[in-house]
Amino acid sequence: MQLLIIKNYKELSKAACIILTKELKKNPSSNIAFATGKTPKGLYKELIKANKKHLINFSKIKAFSLDEYYPIKKSDKQSYYYYLHSNLFSHINVNPSNIHLLNSEAKSPKKECSDKHCPFHNGFGMHGRTFDGAVIKMNMQKTAIIEWPRFIYLNKFERYEKRRSRIKVHKPDCIDLKVGDNVKVMETRPISKTKNFVIVEVEKK
Ligand SMILES: [Zn+2]
Repeated sequence: MQLLIIKNYKELSKAACIILTKELKKNPSSNIAFATGKTPKGLYKELIKANKKHLINFSKIKAFSLDEYYPIKKSDKQSYYYYLHSNLFSHINVNPSNIHLLNSEAKSPKKECSDKHCPFHNGFGMHGRTFDGAVIKMNMQKTAIIEWPRFIYLNKFERYEKRRSRIKVHKPDCIDLKVGDNVKVMETRPISKTKNFVIVEVEKK
């Protein structure tokens, strides 16, 4: 650990900005967890200034939040979603699809669970794409098959053809599911050879 003693808050904010600038030069696609509260506000102002002067580039970073209130509307000024957007993200060149904040509006399952791949209870990390699909099969433990329509343009016939995509997804222990339910799934790091999506929301039919 390196201890820096800095004389005041303004200098501290500048020093932190320089550290992050150097880090992003080395690793432009860094994963960064942004804190909230009063302390980092000065740093965020410095980062916005540096970004406007093209001294720091956020276009490749992946942004995460450390925590969030629940439940709270994203538009609520008390939410960390609102804080991070208004104090930082809206003013820098971060790619909105690389911003991954905890969803304060998620419909959370009530049950407790010890599933180590559960995004609700064990903080299993999610990133990447999401799909909405319908459950078509569920006879395996912790796994469901979901399906959604996609449209493919056929040059030869100059029309779209409806095809169906199917994937195997992880069903956390705490989610109750039946065939026909609509679900939202999100990409994760691989859970098994054939699974790298997990169910994050269920719309009961
Ligand atoms: Zn769970």
